[in-house]
Amino acid sequence: MKIKDIGEFGLIERIHAKAGRSSYPVVIGIGDDASVLDVGPRNQIVTTTDMLVEGVHFLRDSIEPFDLGFKSHAVNLSDIAAMGAAPAQSFLSFGLPPDMEVETIDTFMDGFMEVGEGVPLSGGDTVSSPHGWIISVTVIGTSPAGRVLRRDSGVPGETIWLCGPVGDSAAGLSILLGQTTKVDEQGAQFLIKSHNRPLPQVRMGRILLEAGISNCAIDVSDGLLQDLGHICKRSKLGAELELESIPLSSPIKELASANGLDPYRWALRGGEDYSLLFTVKPENEKKLLRVLEKEEIAAVPIGRTVPGKGVRVFRDGSEVETGPDGGFDHFRERP
Ligand SMILES: [Mg+2]
Repeated sequence: MKIKDIGEFGLIERIHAKAGRSSYPVVIGIGDDASVLDVGPRNQIVTTTDMLVEGVHFLRDSIEPFDLGFKSHAVNLSDIAAMGAAPAQSFLSFGLPPDMEVETIDTFMDGFMEVGEGVPLSGGDTVSSPHGWIISVTVIGTSPAGRVLRRDSGVPGETIWLCGPVGDSAAGLSILLGQTTKVDEQGAQFLIKSHNRPLPQVRMGRILLEAGISNCAIDVSDGLLQDLGHICKRSKLGAELELESIPLSSPIKELASANGLDPYRWALRGGEDYSLLFTVKPENEKKLLRVLEKEEIAAVPIGRTVPGKGVRVFRDGSEVETGPDGGFDHFRERP
């Protein structure tokens, strides 16, 4: 059997089976946005790692080194945000072609440090790579002992909230790949920036945890349907989304209409927005609304958790067909 036959998630399941079950002091092992380690009575350590490979995650000619540095750190910070943890330190390892200009790395580092907002780079490794860039980032964060936002902590009867955009990144990518024709330069730049410099929702994640507003969150890296599907699967529940509640930016609407496309396709299936998806019990909604207003953070309710399984999508009250909830799966062959 080939890796491409089982896909990314099938591969992870096989590796997970070899890894065995997590045991103390590992509170959460494989299967969430980050792993959690119990280190004593006050705090726990939250760790995530991610790899970007030239030709798979980015094309060297279509992303500026600054943006690449920004994004490679942002995607890891986003996983820390999805746990409600505070990022404490980062590690960066490179596989680099020897003929690369050193100034390229200088600029990469500027982007990497900018999105970190003060998170120190504390180590890493550099090796020579004959086939393009490989970038591996690890971010370590902390959270109060025994407390973290988990994918498996959702319960039926909660409201599903979204903090950050969905679809803009995929729409930006479609412009970069020449799959769509842009309407105006400003709108195109907005969408492309959403793709190249996604903003991790670190502050929202920390507030949700610290104020006890939510127990369950995931960051939208593979697409809204697929990532909500991860929560449903791990929490053993179903979800209902109201399409008209999902906010769309003006540029994505304009691009979709000019190209005869449905912008909700990007919003539901497009990946790499790094927004935060979380569930809130009815009794915590007021507290959430107060916090959002005070902290000036935009988040919106887009649906609810229900008994059962799978994600159902409704448009003006009637269910729409979404097919298998496919976001981005590495290794699977694209149709
Ligand atoms: Mg994640």
